[in-house]
Amino acid sequence: MSSDSEDFLPEEEPFDGEMPREKGPPGEPIPAILHSFYEDRPFVSCTRCGESLADFADGYRISKNFNKDECIIEYALCLPCLDAMLDEASEESKVALAKFQAENLRDVSGFNDCALCDKQFDAVKNGDYSFAGVCVGDKMYDSAMVCFSCMEAMAAVMSEETRRTWDRFREENFPGIPSDFEPFPNQGAPIVF
Ligand SMILES: [Zn+2]
Ligand SMILES: [Zn+2]
Repeated sequence: MSSDSEDFLPEEEPFDGEMPREKGPPGEPIPAILHSFYEDRPFVSCTRCGESLADFADGYRISKNFNKDECIIEYALCLPCLDAMLDEASEESKVALAKFQAENLRDVSGFNDCALCDKQFDAVKNGDYSFAGVCVGDKMYDSAMVCFSCMEAMAAVMSEETRRTWDRFREENFPGIPSDFEPFPNQGAPIVF
């Protein structure tokens, strides 16, 4: 290498060809952990309505529950479906859930910190936890981890009826889950960003 002083200028930011868009944050590629484990590729259609996720300009939410490193359940919901699911919740549940999240939602992002309490991923990775991603097209704009205690706490503020809505959704969409498996006894709605 030459001793040309220009060599000591700070390097330009490595550029991966992804210009920040003029509107909104650039997003990042959806990490493999949020791809569909069952389809072995990124989610392409809404789990509930089957429409192509790429067609939803407002994006969609990916939700995956894990036990240790095993994916227990996963789904991607377009916003109209997510809204519809939440709309089925009783008014009381909606208020309670919104209140719970408003009181507990922390200013964190990503999979290392629980979005609702101060637990870190290391403390929960040997049990149940869930990951969620806010995506538009093939980009992710926000992500969150929720520990099992917080999933239970969220479920606890919802009415029996609302929990049944989500249970029914899971039963209808994931018939392959073994019946002796106790998948989500206390898991209610996913975290809503
Ligand atoms: Zn849908
Ligand atoms: Zn937590």
